[in-house]
Amino acid sequence: MKTLLLHTCCAPCAAHAIERMRAEGYVVTLYFSNSNIAPAEEYEQRLLSVRFLAEQTGAVLIEDAYAHDLWLAHVQGLEGEPEKGRRCHKCFEYNLERTARYADEKGFEYFTTTLTISPHKIARDIFHIGSTYPKYLPVDFKKQDGFKHSMAHAKEWKLYRQQYCGCEFSILPPRVSRG
Ligand code: SF4
Repeated sequence: MKTLLLHTCCAPCAAHAIERMRAEGYVVTLYFSNSNIAPAEEYEQRLLSVRFLAEQTGAVLIEDAYAHDLWLAHVQGLEGEPEKGRRCHKCFEYNLERTARYADEKGFEYFTTTLTISPHKIARDIFHIGSTYPKYLPVDFKKQDGFKHSMAHAKEWKLYRQQYCGCEFSILPPRVSRG
């Protein structure tokens, strides 16, 4: 069996990704590494939901330390960028670098990220960053109706569905859930 470290942004996205990668023969370990999320209460809420999902699916969950100050320093000067802009590119770099490092340290064969499932993110950017790491598996989780499946799982398991991408610069007025 092939071992895969799955960078996990939130429970709904991971629910689909776990199912898909297991069907493709991978042993999936979740890696919650999301220092981009603010405020801390929102981070906790998303993490709690991922813990619940891990229990439901029997997946091992690894929790990275939360270091929002370090993440802020990484995107400094890009606070006013729109979503899908340069700040998001740096944000993906930050989380993928941590995931790649952990995969190396612990001997995982591959790693990938749930981030590609979101219609608000450009998979090409994520693939570009991922391609700098030999263990990166370029999976576009939007394919095979990924987003639709993630919403169906969220409903089925009553998973927490966030209202904005993650950082304080992406907080929007109340609107439809983002998954
Ligand atoms: S909007 Fe989302 S992807 Fe972009 S920097 Fe903020 S948390 Fe990261």
